[in-house]
Amino acid sequence: MARYIFITGGVVSSLGKGLASAALGALLQARGYRVRLRKLDPYLNVDPGTMSPYQHGEVYVTDDGTEADLDLGHYERFTGVAADRGDNVTTGKIYQEILAKERRGDYLGATVQVIPHVTNAIKDFVLNGNEDVDFVLCEIGGTVGDIEGLPFFEAIRQLGNQLARNQAIYVHLTLIPYISSAGELKTKPTQHSVKELRSIGIQPDILLCRSDRVIPKEERRKIGLFCNVRPEAVIQGLDVETIYQVPLAYHDEGFDDQVLKAFGITDAKAPDLEMWRGITKRVLEPDGEVTIVIVGKYTELKDAYKSLTEALIHGGIANNVRVNLKWIESEIFESEDTLHHLENVHGILVPGGFGERGSEGKIKAAEFARTHNVPYFGICFGMQMAVIEALRNMAGMTNASSSEFGPCDEPVVGLMTEWNKGNQTEIRSADDDLGGTMRLGAFDAVLRPGSKVAEIYGATNISERHRHRYEVNIAHEEILKKHGVTFSGVSPDGSLPEIVEIEDHPWFIGVQFHPELKSKPFDPHPLFKSFIEAAVVQSRLV
Ligand code: GLN
Repeated sequence: MARYIFITGGVVSSLGKGLASAALGALLQARGYRVRLRKLDPYLNVDPGTMSPYQHGEVYVTDDGTEADLDLGHYERFTGVAADRGDNVTTGKIYQEILAKERRGDYLGATVQVIPHVTNAIKDFVLNGNEDVDFVLCEIGGTVGDIEGLPFFEAIRQLGNQLARNQAIYVHLTLIPYISSAGELKTKPTQHSVKELRSIGIQPDILLCRSDRVIPKEERRKIGLFCNVRPEAVIQGLDVETIYQVPLAYHDEGFDDQVLKAFGITDAKAPDLEMWRGITKRVLEPDGEVTIVIVGKYTELKDAYKSLTEALIHGGIANNVRVNLKWIESEIFESEDTLHHLENVHGILVPGGFGERGSEGKIKAAEFARTHNVPYFGICFGMQMAVIEALRNMAGMTNASSSEFGPCDEPVVGLMTEWNKGNQTEIRSADDDLGGTMRLGAFDAVLRPGSKVAEIYGATNISERHRHRYEVNIAHEEILKKHGVTFSGVSPDGSLPEIVEIEDHPWFIGVQFHPELKSKPFDPHPLFKSFIEAAVVQSRLV
């Protein structure tokens, strides 16, 4: 029977609730337990798919094509358990289902209310599909006290009563700020946060207190006393150098021990943390370093490229080097004399993106990489821009562009109106809704034997996650081939280019999918591993 761990946050947001949940999942796994992690997001959007990365950071995509919160990325990276549509729910999604039922008449004349209908729908979501797991970790987005979070807090409160004793516990994550003028760590915000939580009927079992310095034992005792938590269950969560140290750091503070104790589990085996020690050592004590430029659009907000940043670190882990990231707004390459920013770097990466702004700068960056023999990795939009660049500058199609930017003479990248998913054909048109209508989730691709990508993957059949609305038109295959640019990966029916590579170049690969979504610190993605390897070679040349 699954046990439930509800993780809530207080004081401020951005304390790393997602990471704490992911790390706890990894610690329980290291003791041999099966885990599943879920995120409950109180906002009204049905999913984050239509939100700007500035609002919400990266949109994570699962194999089954769910556009999900980026915390699901942390969960997958720390536990290796593939998330699916059952692992992220929002208020919008809950209401969408309830209102559809109401219209069908499923409520048989009842007045539909937050309690019990909304809370029941949330509870059903939490309880569903947990037959094969030992622990379900449920993180509630936002902080306690947010109006929109109330139904979620109420639902998890009810579950505490509904489930058998010792089957559900509550972990609350807070901040203990240091006030420099007083020279003191302050516990009051935590006290208030727990008070708020208790006022809605939830008594936390464990407090995870984030702090930038050691919280003295006496202070922890005081927090415990005021918050009605045993002092040993007040865990300090100190800042660490790499996120992959978090499982080790939280274990050292007794986090997983306290979780097991709260459930009354006394026979758990000791965790095997060798893997996390190895990963941490590789990240903190590398043998060399490389510098990769990321030419993007949301470079101010690193969360917009979360999985990408992590996948590059994984590429570094695989090659035992530190990967320094240099973020550049692509628009700057639209001005004269700016390409020097790309000199002396060991690799150029153009990530996924949407819209015309900055696209010409990305095309310039791809051209620089191609003509200067610098390793180039184009992901989704980055592949589309590289193909436009090649057609414009190698094949003389000066008007080559994407129909994403409006009507154009040579739409070499165009709106995808039809593709196959399993046995079904999905059809789209230009005036469809924007939400949930892209080509989303895992699709197979077939790689050309003998190509660089086939060698990198060590396979000719792969599956990768997608999130795009436009595609490179396969009709340009022949002309590109004449210039040494080949489609080395295509969809199984041969209609969609999935990978483009330049043979006569040290490393020039564009992919229509998002390989960063499947990379793990303990299983770096082959493309990132190979890209960083090429960057190491490049670093010896410049
Ligand atoms: N905007 C492009 C498309 O929709 C690329 C999307 C992406 O990079 N994820 O096809």
